[in-house]
Amino acid sequence: MAKSPARAAIYTRISDDKEGKELGVARQEADCRELAKAEGLAITEVYTDNDISASRSSRKPRPEWTRMLDDAEAGKFDVILAYSTSRLTRRPREREDIIELAEDFGIGLMTHVSGRPDLTTADGQASFRFGGTVDTSEADRTAERARRKQLELAQAGRHNGPRPFGWDIVGTKADQRLVINQAEAAVLRELVKRVLAGEGLWKLVNDLNARGIPTSTGKQWQTQVLRRVLLRDRNHGMRSHKPLGKNGKPTGKVELYKGQWEPIIDRETHDRVLATLTDPSRRTNNRGTEAKYLLTSLARCGECDRFVVGTNEFTYEVKGTLKNDGTRGPSRTRTYPHAYQCPHAGCQKVQRRMADVDEHVERVVVGVLEREGVRLLGGDEFAAEQARERIEALEAKLALTADQFADDVITGEQLKRITERLRPQLAAERARLSSAQPEASLAEYTGPDVARAWEAADVETKKRLIRLLGMTITIKRVGAGNGRGYDPDSVSITWP
Ligand SMILES: [Zn+2]
Repeated sequence: MAKSPARAAIYTRISDDKEGKELGVARQEADCRELAKAEGLAITEVYTDNDISASRSSRKPRPEWTRMLDDAEAGKFDVILAYSTSRLTRRPREREDIIELAEDFGIGLMTHVSGRPDLTTADGQASFRFGGTVDTSEADRTAERARRKQLELAQAGRHNGPRPFGWDIVGTKADQRLVINQAEAAVLRELVKRVLAGEGLWKLVNDLNARGIPTSTGKQWQTQVLRRVLLRDRNHGMRSHKPLGKNGKPTGKVELYKGQWEPIIDRETHDRVLATLTDPSRRTNNRGTEAKYLLTSLARCGECDRFVVGTNEFTYEVKGTLKNDGTRGPSRTRTYPHAYQCPHAGCQKVQRRMADVDEHVERVVVGVLEREGVRLLGGDEFAAEQARERIEALEAKLALTADQFADDVITGEQLKRITERLRPQLAAERARLSSAQPEASLAEYTGPDVARAWEAADVETKKRLIRLLGMTITIKRVGAGNGRGYDPDSVSITWP
């Protein structure tokens, strides 16, 4: 459970049963709001389903219930408030959903009349599965037993709960252990590296989903879920324990015990991740500081016309196929090079090797800068040319005058007069030339030395130049079997 809960959702349900008839939705909500007030919780949303005319075994969908579960997973609140556990749901399948939320996402449950079942303990789960309301003294005894059990497990460094991303669970209940899942551990190390390199969580989430790498529960990633996974003390081999107080609420303390599993990253690295993800200067936890690729947010997907993103190089271990006798064939290693991909759900149809696209685009850009840089970067080519010609003429005149003086053709007095007349003209032409050229910081990208200047420029500058050139770069979809060699026609580059 994360800190002490701050944001709460209210769930109310109207139905044909006795409790449902006696209790209007408004009454349920009022009681929950009172509870929230007493607990200092902020209400984020109220979800209400109408269950009238559905029998208890009915599978009629409850749209608000589903929306609430989605929002819970998206990290929109920390605790669910309901009038009673039976008002929340009587369906066994849905009670399992609530238990999963508690285990996977630390979502708490509080009710007006049935107390606050601790769904992270076996005892709490059992009474929630079978119980409606439990009398208070029994609830207290259960809570106390659960607290002791939790502490024992933590001190022994035992894992408690579903399979965490990065490990597999082996063994049976009493002596179950976590062993590293090498493929997921490799992904986790990659994610850590990328976070430390300043990449945003939203981008990592897009990347994971585009690559078809699911969470430990087989779902698509979301930034809040990824954030929690990255912040787990489990990653550096520690078992964290958040003890509950006598009132059954978290005390806010976190105790660390040595876990029974191998760490995936070391303590120092974990501390850096912690510092990075909890840095208040990251405007939102999703943004990152971005180590950028040339064409991220510049090139577009040829299918949906939205921006592509660059993905990191990535080595993935593919487990051998499972045979009938339960053994596995040899595992293989696959390396995915840096690539540009369309990350947008519903499309994701375009992907191309980054090195090929960059090489192609950079070659075109340098050529365009050489030939049309002045015009495209906002200069006035005609005015610049005229100014250049006049400057040449004036400088020639000055040189000639100096020669004539040296040859005694003109006197010192004449030289001085001519020079005094020409100097201001020269200065004016120089000013005209510089205003006809693109801003000074771009001047080196318009001359004959463009290629060298481009080579030396950083990614930020290169991106800026491509934008200033008004280029449109579109990575088109290529058919299956066409993905081997790079076809320059599969990337269109246009400019005004
Ligand atoms: Zn697309």
